[in-house]
Amino acid sequence: MKLIIASNNKDKIKEIKEILSSHFDEIISIKEAGIHHETIEDGTTFMENAIKKAKEICEISGCASLADDSGICVDALGGEPGIYSARYSGEHGNDEMNNQLILKNLEGKTDRSAHYTCAMALFFPDGKSITAEGYWHGKVAYEPKGINGFGYDPLFIPDGFDCTSAELTPEEKNDISHRRNALNLLLKKLS
Ligand code: IMP
Repeated sequence: MKLIIASNNKDKIKEIKEILSSHFDEIISIKEAGIHHETIEDGTTFMENAIKKAKEICEISGCASLADDSGICVDALGGEPGIYSARYSGEHGNDEMNNQLILKNLEGKTDRSAHYTCAMALFFPDGKSITAEGYWHGKVAYEPKGINGFGYDPLFIPDGFDCTSAELTPEEKNDISHRRNALNLLLKKLS
């Protein structure tokens, strides 16, 4: 079966392709499918956004479509940045600015606990759909470390590790991440 990943985020696409490569005949991104469409992410939860993205691309392409909406939730910041993770430091921000803003907002706070959430939605042309959510718990470091991964990985120390997720190899991260956990659950429901 051919699967279109409803995302323009090259880092997410790479991780999803690596995790799912043995389960689908062909996995392509919307860009590779020649689709130029940006879903307006106006949901109030990760899952609402994932469902909207997957449904729209499935309807446009006529192919099975998978969307990932994800982000980091920091306990001492009341769950922020959450669904606003990609644009925490503003529309023109970037990963480094987002990380710096988290560090600034955590200044003076002792609770550094946080978790990643990944909501996955898979839509089929016949109207059927499957959803799953995965988590990865850990804490926020005091300074960025590591060059692997993307987004908040240089700041995220997964439970059970004394390094950041940007210091893990792609294989190590893909074995235990929120994305892996969500996809495992999704595949279980699919079978
Ligand atoms: P989305 O594209 O609206 O789902 O936003 C996802 C954002 O959440 C990314 O731009 C990152 O800032 C953050 N994020 C999601 N997953 C990860 C991850 O695996 N590592 C680091 N940051 C992540």
